Amino acid sequence: TCRVGVLALQGDVAEHLAALRRCGAEAVTVRREAELATVDALVLPGGESSAMDRLLRATGLDVPLRGRLRDGMPALGSCAGMILLADRVEGAAPGQRTLGGLDVTVRRNGFGRQVDSFETDLVMAGLPGPALHAVFIRAPRVVQAGPGVQVLATVAGPVAGDTIVAVRQGALLATAFHPEVSGDDRVHRVLVDLARGARSQREGPQG
Ligand code: GLN
Repeated sequence: TCRVGVLALQGDVAEHLAALRRCGAEAVTVRREAELATVDALVLPGGESSAMDRLLRATGLDVPLRGRLRDGMPALGSCAGMILLADRVEGAAPGQRTLGGLDVTVRRNGFGRQVDSFETDLVMAGLPGPALHAVFIRAPRVVQAGPGVQVLATVAGPVAGDTIVAVRQGALLATAFHPEVSGDDRVHRVLVDLARGARSQREGPQG
């Protein structure tokens, strides 16, 4: 088994907990350092990235969380969570910082005001089966990805060419869309598999 946390300072927590449980993980909310210490992996949910940043720093959770990410804890950032994992942000709120870890630049609200939200089916690398139904809500877009970043999915537009909307770098996964709202748990399953691997590595062969 494995235990996966959902950062629960702000944003859509309940849907992620449900998806993780459907994947067979023990799923718990994480608001404090003591809770963070117990999880094998973490979801950073959608919501409002500048609000989450403020709360992370107000609670002091930002420091141990950066430490766990640096130590290789698997994580999935969705939408605002993708922004939190990005090393660089365009259109950040005044003073807004990120946790970082993913060598990408993201643009907040990257699909423009006219298209606040949209849904599309996309093919995502590493996911067997049919196209994934992806729901975008005031989503960021990845405008630049470093050489160590694997592009998992793109959509056409909003500017000329394709836009990167899902990436992976090591044990860090990020999607511009919300994989927790479609009832398709394949993205969460990838994280839960990484969490199981991290767990067995920590426990050793006897675990
Ligand atoms: N636009 C939000 C932000 O900048 C993200 C929206 C979302 O997570 N659904 O944080």
